[in-house]
Amino acid sequence: MDAITQHDVSLMSALLLDGMDLDTIGDKFEIPPSDVIQHIYPPKQFIPASLFESRSRRGTVRLGEDCIEKRCSRCRQFFPIASEFWHNCRNNPDGFLGWCRACEIDRVNARRKELKK
Ligand SMILES: [Zn+2]
Repeated sequence: MDAITQHDVSLMSALLLDGMDLDTIGDKFEIPPSDVIQHIYPPKQFIPASLFESRSRRGTVRLGEDCIEKRCSRCRQFFPIASEFWHNCRNNPDGFLGWCRACEIDRVNARRKELKK
């Protein structure tokens, strides 16, 4: 399969809005479903299918409605991989910390209190 073109992305987007599921769309374009969602709604950092698969097997990521979601390793809730929900982390392949924003803020506040004692 050749590289995905802008035309392909428009088609994928139309099929998704039509109610077709990501797996079926992926089959049509011969790409994994995690790539389909990322072509339609580009994330900050593209997550390669191999990384998505290995994380998905461990239950730390999943496909959401319009994005890939990852699980906070502290509160165990799933949130879209986007800066509204996660602090940046350059060392992580998805570009964000392993703890969600709320958990990270808790951690920083607790640490601050600890230091004040
Ligand atoms: Zn959390």
